[in-house]
Amino acid sequence: MALTSEELAQIREKLAKQRRQGEKKLKFLEESILQKQDPAARDGVYYSQHPAEIGTDANEREKFYRIATSEHRFLYRVDEAMRRIEAGEYGKCENCGEDIPFSRLLVVPTARTCVVCQEEAERIRFQGW
Ligand SMILES: [Zn+2]
Repeated sequence: MALTSEELAQIREKLAKQRRQGEKKLKFLEESILQKQDPAARDGVYYSQHPAEIGTDANEREKFYRIATSEHRFLYRVDEAMRRIEAGEYGKCENCGEDIPFSRLLVVPTARTCVVCQEEAERIRFQGW
């Protein structure tokens, strides 16, 4: 076991903080999306009179949705990391099984692989393109 209980506590705290921040951001995004939809939601006959405006609204909504989706994914990874801490599986590279250094986990608490495997994965992905 590479991580001490103090180190785990630090990571857990960091994950909890990231979760709160992510939730806040998501709430803000969802409110922004709702606000954009509000006129249509209030009365079904609302349509923007200017085609350019419709385009902007649609683009903006899409942008919000995209950010919200990636935020959802991030929160999922945070929950996943917390689950691994509870299960005692946290801190091992899921590719090579080596311990992930505490310094890396502190920066990226959701990391599932060590730096070497991460870089290798990125290299392969890059070559694949
Ligand atoms: Zn590894």
